[in-house]
Amino acid sequence: MTGGQEADGIPLEMQGAYADMAALYEDVARNMTVVLDVHAGMGLVPSCSKGCDACCHQLVLSTVAEAREMAHALESLEPAPRSLVAGRIDHWLEVTGPLRHALQQANDETLDEVVDTMAAQYWQQRIPCPFLVERACILHDARPLACRQHHALGDPVHCGEADGQNVDQMEAMEDLFFLAQDAITGEDAEIGIFPELVAMLSESRHP
Ligand code: SF4
Repeated sequence: MTGGQEADGIPLEMQGAYADMAALYEDVARNMTVVLDVHAGMGLVPSCSKGCDACCHQLVLSTVAEAREMAHALESLEPAPRSLVAGRIDHWLEVTGPLRHALQQANDETLDEVVDTMAAQYWQQRIPCPFLVERACILHDARPLACRQHHALGDPVHCGEADGQNVDQMEAMEDLFFLAQDAITGEDAEIGIFPELVAMLSESRHP
């Protein structure tokens, strides 16, 4: 058992010792249902919906395990959509080259500051995630934990505003995100920029 905790008075329980990422995501989904039900009981329903894609223009970090899951999902796509996404990944690598270069130059002392600066510049440029196709995640079932955790409350117009500071989130979802990441261990738990990790893990992504 990885453990549980109370978040906003909501009990979160992760089973732990997952056979694979599908099992982890299943457990996350089970906990998310609890969180959403409790909020619904208080009249708080997320405003997120398909086609609302502001959060898919942010810098997304993930573990290697999450990126590998996406890389496998990418291989399962039909040739046409796979080719489309592979092309978008190539374009994303090109567009984000200078930002990623700055990150590579960071050391332990400067890393947090460089990541914050990168996230701000990334957001200013509104760089779309390479998996965002027709305003929806083309591999939604394989999306990383950071994307699963995002549940905005209130007017979705705030999600597209300058710094996103006016977006109310469900705190319990954030706690669930950290519990889930804690369940990933070893080299699989190393953190990187999500699309970059997927690109590294899917070098034969072009059909
Ligand atoms: S992986 Fe999917 S949900 Fe996450 S940012 Fe990219 S398109 Fe959006």
